[in-house]
Amino acid sequence: MICNIICNFAIHFFMNTMNIIDREDIGRLCMLAGKAERMVITAHIRPDGDAMGSCTALMRFLRESGKEAYIIFPDRYPDNLAFLADSTERDFILSAEDEPARAAGLVASCGLIFCLDFNKFEDSRCGALRKPLAEAACDKVLIDHHLFPDRDLFSLVFSETEISSTAELLFWILMALPQTGGDPKKLSPGVAASLMAGMTTDTNNFANSVFPSTLRMASMLLEAGVDRDALLGHLYNEYPERRLRLLGKLLYSEMKITEDGVAYMILDRKTMTEYGLREGETEGFVNEPLSIGKVRMSIFIKEDNGYFRVSIRSKKGVSANRCAKKYFNGGGHELASGGRLYAPADIKDISEAAGYVERVTHAFMTEEYGPDGK
Ligand code: 5GP
Ligand code: MN
Repeated sequence: MICNIICNFAIHFFMNTMNIIDREDIGRLCMLAGKAERMVITAHIRPDGDAMGSCTALMRFLRESGKEAYIIFPDRYPDNLAFLADSTERDFILSAEDEPARAAGLVASCGLIFCLDFNKFEDSRCGALRKPLAEAACDKVLIDHHLFPDRDLFSLVFSETEISSTAELLFWILMALPQTGGDPKKLSPGVAASLMAGMTTDTNNFANSVFPSTLRMASMLLEAGVDRDALLGHLYNEYPERRLRLLGKLLYSEMKITEDGVAYMILDRKTMTEYGLREGETEGFVNEPLSIGKVRMSIFIKEDNGYFRVSIRSKKGVSANRCAKKYFNGGGHELASGGRLYAPADIKDISEAAGYVERVTHAFMTEEYGPDGK
């Protein structure tokens, strides 16, 4: 009987954990988390659903385990993700841009820092947090799924690039902990919902970067009771009407498609203001042109304060990542990357953006894929 129970537990445990997670790393994680009381969790600038989902999942898990955990983002998270934290939890989430002294104080005084969904201390990814993070003397743990992590910055690295999201990687780490023993029902509803939100947004609701492990995670979280309908409602069905009106306008009259199969759209500040769009509300626009057969890569450029934010998505066979690195001061994943254009280094002003995109993408497609584009 006892033997049966142990055997069932072992089967359950090994089926529900993932072989990418190294047992020794889990031991080191438990040791580092065990000796720290106050912890800081951070993610990249302009947090998206994966950053916000992973951070809130980890903060909830740590606080439920009796730890004093805070989330510090380089800047504010968008209003459309606010549902991922309740009013009490919002007191433990701060933006380094809004509260630089409190943020720097917490980073300097904590015993452990978790870096989620980014993997280097760069201005373009860490903003106001770059210096405090680089100078913090405590141990730092990386949990991330982007290419080329700077491993030397961290005491412990969980880096998987063949995984849907940081939220999924965090899920498998949590499943490998003794506290859960591989049983997703041991996660609180809040932790489970945040993990599902991170994975759902980074896969664009199961449209890309979906691996067998991603569907396993989703299925385990559903069995554990996650309300996916409520989550999808919050993530995709609560936007203001003007967001879709603007997307319609961009697709109808602004989108250009080059001979190389590159679609691009440029959104200037004036139009953003005219439509009253807030941060986070243009999320997903870059994906739309990929539904056109001949489009192999899609680029969305948005004017920001003194620079231009660039989002790039590509279909298999074309590397958004290489294009972002080579021509847009950025990086990311193979098929989903981002970067920036600076004025006057790259372009004089927004009137030159279209010409720049046409020129560099033609060079990129020809250099990388040959004159016939293959
Ligand atoms: P998004 O287009 O959703 O802003 O970003 C897509 C991907 O590109 C994300 O994985 C994000 O981390 C990465 N990314 C976005 N902006 C930058 C950037 O300025 N630098 C780098 N290295 N990666 C970026
Ligand atoms: Mn991510």
